[in-house]
Amino acid sequence: MNWDEFSDWGKKVSDWTQAYHQTVGDKPVRARTEPGDILNALPVSPPEDPEMMEDIFQDFEQIVMPGITHWQHPRFFAYFNSNASAPSVLAEFLASAIAPQCMLWQTSPAATEMETRMMDWLRQALDLPDGFAGVIQDSASSATLAAVLTMREKALNWQGNQQGLFGQKPLRIYCSSEVHTSIDRAIWVAGIGQDNLVRIPIKGDWRGMDPEALEDAIQADLEAGLQPAGVILCVGGTGTGATDPVDRCLEIAQKYGLYTHVDAAWAGSAMICPDYRHYWLGIDQADSIVFNPHKWLGVQFDCCAHFLKNPDDLVQTLAISPEYLKTHGKDGIINYSEWSVPLGRRFRALKLWFVIRAYGLEGLRERLRNHVNWSVDLHDRLAAEPDFEIVTPPMWSLWTFRYVPTEASDLDDLNLRLVNTINDDGRIYLTQTRVDGDLVIRFQAGQFETTEDDVKMAFDVITEIARELTP
Ligand SMILES: *Cc1c(COP(=O)(O)O)cnc(C)c1O
Repeated sequence: MNWDEFSDWGKKVSDWTQAYHQTVGDKPVRARTEPGDILNALPVSPPEDPEMMEDIFQDFEQIVMPGITHWQHPRFFAYFNSNASAPSVLAEFLASAIAPQCMLWQTSPAATEMETRMMDWLRQALDLPDGFAGVIQDSASSATLAAVLTMREKALNWQGNQQGLFGQKPLRIYCSSEVHTSIDRAIWVAGIGQDNLVRIPIKGDWRGMDPEALEDAIQADLEAGLQPAGVILCVGGTGTGATDPVDRCLEIAQKYGLYTHVDAAWAGSAMICPDYRHYWLGIDQADSIVFNPHKWLGVQFDCCAHFLKNPDDLVQTLAISPEYLKTHGKDGIINYSEWSVPLGRRFRALKLWFVIRAYGLEGLRERLRNHVNWSVDLHDRLAAEPDFEIVTPPMWSLWTFRYVPTEASDLDDLNLRLVNTINDDGRIYLTQTRVDGDLVIRFQAGQFETTEDDVKMAFDVITEIARELTP
């Protein structure tokens, strides 16, 4: 294939994309393939000779599409959504067409300067103080790793990268029992060790860290000769939306001089609405905050917003400047590769620019508020059914429930069968989690094309399928 044929194929792909997004709601949400089906449909060895684009495209439709779980389906209520809105898809097309590698300012000044401006737009949208600077990371996992490395280096007086951790006092990092597994992995990769990730008990409806227990744990570690290094807070945890009391926990962390990182990967998007900001009161005192526009803000994966009160700490932790990367004499420029673990960077700011302009903040807020309100309505209806139990209350658009008919003996087994039968049915897609050891079913709404009727349909599907099961 050469560029002369590109435009015909580009039109075809563009028509296909529009039709896909407009009809995806007619398909079963979760892929209906068995393990190995797709692998077996793909030739074992690569072709020696060129193949026609017609054949490649036909195989894409016949082999690939049946094996896709439709994340852009309006009744995808599982995990958290990963939205690809129309303007975002267009921006990604353009970014992949020009395909710049944006590691340094000079390797594409527009990408760097747009990233600076877009992160400041997002900062204003979240109403963070203007001292915060932002960088786009590939994922919340990477942002959290960067923050944990910063905690480590600060606590070791910037000697860890040079000397390693041998012979150092164990560093201690505190979080609640509800944080995402990306926190554990950051601790492993940073060489701090799982045993030094201290889980603070939770309390209250928000399932947030108990601040008194946090302070007790820090004091106990100091007395034992260990070295507290940082606190990681959770705003909108993945299982149930658990949210720590940000203001009180940050106050304690500051009292002991600890670096703080707030993981709001999912719920951070909702903070463009002033109505939800009471969930993270005191956030302006955090050192590092992460949220994923690639979840709930319509900007497709990957695009992770990482805000820093003092980016110098991060840059001091991560910057390496060998001669061939020096930018020679350009003052006042930012090389964002010094703010992240990977060196190479895609042009991710472009899709933020397209999406924020195409919807406006008000258009984005309206979508998020609808998702929350429709989800709460569904919660209210299910709560009124005597054979259903709400396990955790709505945090934004996320809540959990169980089917509890009186004659049931093994509720975990029954609810696992329920979620599996619902997903085999295909009209909606849900996932399960555990709350205090019990298997529960999660509901959350957040797909950009979801309508109120889509959310209402979940009530019919859940109750109808549940009541057909043998308890
Ligand atoms: C999704 C999620 C993450 C991980 O995000 P990635 O960008 O996939 O690394 C981390 N924390 C929370 C609370 C999440 O919901």
